[in-house]
Amino acid sequence: MSQPAATAESLAARPEWTRARRIVVKIGSALLADRETGTLKTQWLASLMEDVAELVRQGKDVVLVSSGSIALGRHKLGLPKGALELEQSQAAAAVGQISLAHAYQELAAKSGLTVAQILLTLGDTEQRRRYLNARHTIETLLELKAIPVVNENDTVATAEIKYGDNDRLSARVAGMVSADCLVLLSDIDGLYTAPPASDPTARHIPLVTEITAEIEAMAGDAGTELSKGGMKTKIEAGKIALGAGTNMVITTGKVLNPLRAISEGSRVSWFLAKQDPVTAKKRWIAGQLEPRGTLHVDAGAEKALAAGKSLLVAGVKRVDGEFERGDAVIIRAPDGRELGRGLSAYARGDAERILGRKSSEIADILGFEGGPELIHRNDMALNTRK
Ligand code: GLU
Repeated sequence: MSQPAATAESLAARPEWTRARRIVVKIGSALLADRETGTLKTQWLASLMEDVAELVRQGKDVVLVSSGSIALGRHKLGLPKGALELEQSQAAAAVGQISLAHAYQELAAKSGLTVAQILLTLGDTEQRRRYLNARHTIETLLELKAIPVVNENDTVATAEIKYGDNDRLSARVAGMVSADCLVLLSDIDGLYTAPPASDPTARHIPLVTEITAEIEAMAGDAGTELSKGGMKTKIEAGKIALGAGTNMVITTGKVLNPLRAISEGSRVSWFLAKQDPVTAKKRWIAGQLEPRGTLHVDAGAEKALAAGKSLLVAGVKRVDGEFERGDAVIIRAPDGRELGRGLSAYARGDAERILGRKSSEIADILGFEGGPELIHRNDMALNTRK
């Protein structure tokens, strides 16, 4: 492993990197596990944790999405090379995930960091109720200054309900936590017009502002025995990220301190989003989701919303419709005007029981601690006043 060579092409890091407040970093299996022996590349992981610690010192939130459980576990179990049966992959993941978590814990601690393991399935990122739950946990961990380390819950995910690759999972996670930057650490320093290993005319693409059919065609297929994704799933991840307002960067992880290398302007491919994560999310809530119910709020709540506050249960007088936690609902003013839309933190049944009640009474009434907000301001898109 070598440090990236400073080339004539080296530039200062893009502002999208230096200004990023919340960064999701995807780490592929091939970077973590030695291909021949299946052992963990501890020196490399230690250098990555140093970089993460530096970003945290700069006040940034960092979430890691790490593969590697199957790659580590298959060697421990002595499974043969080549494609594994689903059951074998699940067994390998069960064994490997423990080693992976252990390594993260140990090496993060050396850089003064605390890590937290989060295993997600496809449903956790697609179903809104579970999506809110997973997001809440990740947000809480970040507030508590822990570094979430996410992987797919491979031991329970079957072929039909699986991402299968952590490229797309990491893009969903980035959208879920409204990250402004997603880094895909790959075995190559970005997107090329053709596979550079086999085509000498291949050119590196430093900047993508739109994922066109031409860009998709460049990605080809690929994927190695160890990692599920190739450039193809990275481009799919790009579509998800850009749609969520997250900028994405593909760069090589085959150097020590790969994140510092980005700060130093090493060669990468940037995919730039046209909008920021907050705007993207508000558009999604306002435009794409079918509202399942209506919340009728009082004048005090209307004022609070206009001032940028969350909608508290205390300010809601009546609810209509059938909705679950995480469903989109319409917010109506006392005179019936639609004020906006948002994702309800409570299902209708629970919401009705706590309407107009004080925050301190909620846990007693429901039997669980749910918080005073019926719609958090981050989950709300208000109509602009005409
Ligand atoms: N979740 C898988 C693992 O941890 C890897 C998926 C991928 O390679 O993207 O082994």
